[in-house]
Amino acid sequence: MAKLVERRPLKAWERLNILAFLKGMRTTLRWLLKRPITLEYPEARPYIPDNYRGTPTLVKDIYGREKCVACQLCEHICPAKAIRITPGPAPEGFSHIGRAPAIFQIDRSRCIHCGLCEEVCPEEAIVLQKEYSFSGTDRNAMMIDKEELYEAGGTLPDKYFKWGKSE
Ligand code: SF4
Ligand code: SF4
Repeated sequence: MAKLVERRPLKAWERLNILAFLKGMRTTLRWLLKRPITLEYPEARPYIPDNYRGTPTLVKDIYGREKCVACQLCEHICPAKAIRITPGPAPEGFSHIGRAPAIFQIDRSRCIHCGLCEEVCPEEAIVLQKEYSFSGTDRNAMMIDKEELYEAGGTLPDKYFKWGKSE
């Protein structure tokens, strides 16, 4: 049989919650004296390590040439099916490559930043860089094309030549 336990009426000082108030003030004061851990985002941004996997971008070599040869390995490996490539001829004067992407699109709303495209690329043409902040009002706005990918990627220095190429 259940036993009823009478609840003890609170004393006057307990009803004022003074103890809880003082505990809360102690915590507030303790944090007031510490260095703030919050940031005024987006003006202030946290430290991003070099191996951070942000948004995928396309990069050019130090001579401003497209590194991507439209082999489509990244398109095939992408688990989220976020990459779409249509190969085309290499631009005139780019005799070092057979072809280049006529269309190269990445759907940022699908990308899961796994880095597989960067891993598989034989030319180190697609690189996940540090940018992580992007938004759009609809799905089409999250689809970025070749020009935007090159603009975001820029030119990376020699250390990104996987096969030790110098030109
Ligand atoms: S990071 Fe992963 S999900 Fe994003 S485009 Fe590359 S392979 Fe696809
Ligand atoms: S980015 Fe790399 S893996 Fe993808 S198509 Fe271009 S060369 Fe091939």
